Amino acid sequence: MIAKNRVAFGARLADQGVVQDLIARSRIEIDQARLYVQRTAWLIDQHGAKGARSEIGGIKVAAPNVATTVIARTIEVFGGAGLSDDTPLAYFYAWARVLRIADGPDAVHRRTIARLELNGKTLRGGAGPAALASAVPPGRPA
Ligand SMILES: Cc1cc2nc3c(=O)[nH]c(=O)nc-3n(C[C@H](O)[C@H](O)[C@H](O)COP(=O)(O)OP(=O)(O)OC[C@H]3O[C@@H](n4cnc5c(N)ncnc54)[C@H](O)[C@@H]3O)c2cc1C
Repeated sequence: MIAKNRVAFGARLADQGVVQDLIARSRIEIDQARLYVQRTAWLIDQHGAKGARSEIGGIKVAAPNVATTVIARTIEVFGGAGLSDDTPLAYFYAWARVLRIADGPDAVHRRTIARLELNGKTLRGGAGPAALASAVPPGRPA
């Protein structure tokens, strides 16, 4: 990990609070997105793709957004080198950004999700507590 090796302003990047904050935020957001994807896959297994339309749109927004954010933070930690051809980071960033358009623009997925939510057509039938509980996989804590 570059943060453990690179020294800037007299300290290892890994020892700087700002960098630790970037690392922690990235870990949290990656795990959130991963769980969202796994839950969506579970919903597709249970109800088919049509039944999980909101979640499918949601992960198409969430996952590439997390990717662009985390890659941008990584570029930040690498400094100018992160934008050079010495690393593939700028290339990775561009492709993560492509996914936010190529598989449907974020705005279009969000519009779909909002319409499903407003029309009570999500699997939860809205955001009430009882409906949320019914979306929890059996055998798992709510
Ligand atoms: C690398 C790449 C690969 C692709 N692969 C495929 C493929 O395999 N199959 C395929 O069918 N298409 C593919 N596309 C096309 C892709 O789905 C479209 O580029 C995308 O849907 C946006 O359409 P558009 O380019 O016509 O932009 P526009 O429709 O002009 O949209 C421009 C912007 O306007 C906004 N916008 C547009 N419509 C709405 C709306 N209804 N509500 C809110 N905001 C809106 C969004 O911010 C959007 O980014 C690919 C595109 C790229 C770049």
